[in-house]
Amino acid sequence: MASSGILRCFSKAGFRPIQALIKPNVPVRHLNLLEYQSKVLLDNHGVTVQRFRILDSHKGAVQASKELNAEEYVVKAQILAGGRGKGHFDNGFKGGVHLTKQCDEVETLVEKMVGHRLVTKQTPQEGILVNKVMVAESVDILRETYFCILMDREHNGPVLIASPDGGMDIEEVAAKTPDRLLTLPIDIHQGLTDDVAGQVADFLNFTGDLRSKCMQEVKNIWNMFLGVDATQIEINPLIETPQGHVVAVDAKIQFDDNAEFRQKDIFGLEDFSESDPREVDAASHNLTYIGMDGNIGCLVNGAGLAMATMDIIKLYGGSPANFLDLGGGVQEHQVEHALRILTSDKTVKAVFINIFGGIVNTATIASGLIKVYNTTKIEVPLVVRLEGNNVDEAKRILAESGFPIETANDLDEAAKKAVAAIS
Ligand code: GDP
Ligand code: MG
Repeated sequence: MASSGILRCFSKAGFRPIQALIKPNVPVRHLNLLEYQSKVLLDNHGVTVQRFRILDSHKGAVQASKELNAEEYVVKAQILAGGRGKGHFDNGFKGGVHLTKQCDEVETLVEKMVGHRLVTKQTPQEGILVNKVMVAESVDILRETYFCILMDREHNGPVLIASPDGGMDIEEVAAKTPDRLLTLPIDIHQGLTDDVAGQVADFLNFTGDLRSKCMQEVKNIWNMFLGVDATQIEINPLIETPQGHVVAVDAKIQFDDNAEFRQKDIFGLEDFSESDPREVDAASHNLTYIGMDGNIGCLVNGAGLAMATMDIIKLYGGSPANFLDLGGGVQEHQVEHALRILTSDKTVKAVFINIFGGIVNTATIASGLIKVYNTTKIEVPLVVRLEGNNVDEAKRILAESGFPIETANDLDEAAKKAVAAIS
């Protein structure tokens, strides 16, 4: 059985959802949860996690640790990225995961984390601002293993991935010691049988009492996977303690956005503080925004056209700043909003509008654009290529508007004009 699909995903994964890598560049919005939110869900599904408190300032730290009343505490910065243990803060402080036995040291540690940016292998270079810190009862770790369930396109269903080498990058395990990685596709109708849970426990080297404990954790994680409509639940590390417990120490969960309607509580947890504000703004108008590094803003309809648009910009020596996908049944107010998002972005030096009107009435697009010109001073050049449904009317609206909108009859001409507009 080929497992290369999954491994390829891992090797590129970082903190990006694996699904987005299988369908690269397709505009999907993914719900991400912080570690502590994931652990509440795990706990609700019977998966063993540590007791914890969440702080947004060092002030309650001593009180919180006293309440936990543990022999040792682990203090963990909460950001939507992994690799925290090996990360560093913008104030020079090293490590987003620390152990201490003293309540007052918990306070000092929290103070060094909250309000500072944590840089890890998976964050942008400037790091991510830490607003919340977890203080948990530390567990003694005898050894760390890895366990993950993910929805995998190559297998048309869920796949279990396990490795006795947890704690470290699973992509490294996959590259260097692939025999230390177990990949087991699961028939979703059959579910996760005892036999399969036992195979996982054996591969992870849990023996005796611990074998059945591990099997139970695996089954609970499976039930949660189905119950919350997850596309991925990754536990790294799933640890063994000297006291004979199996504990999920870190978790990363991805959800199926199509299930939002029946997972309202979970989707309600979404924290936008780390998201690109333009992405959030676009989403509030049912538009999909994906930011990139260049300087040509792209307004398109459909993911396929978005990719073709970006490719052709590159072909003619330009570089896309983003793309904003209007989707199918677009309305005038969405066009207006989309153009406002693009033109208010300082990195955008020209806007390329490339619409193929199948369902979309191109005259609606033209009217939406003109409305923005009527009310706002647009300083960047606009190149418009409209094709399809009602295009003659659309062209008439643009021509008669008198606004300096550059039009083009085909994709090549439009792309050349868009690239020329910034050079
Ligand atoms: P990550 O660095 O963002 O993946 O954060 P993790 O939660 O996975 O923590 C990183 C590492 O810190 C783990 O692999 C463990 O080795 C260690 N660690 C985390 N929590 C505890 C704990 O409660 N006790 C001990 N002894 N080590 C811990
Ligand atoms: Mg981890």
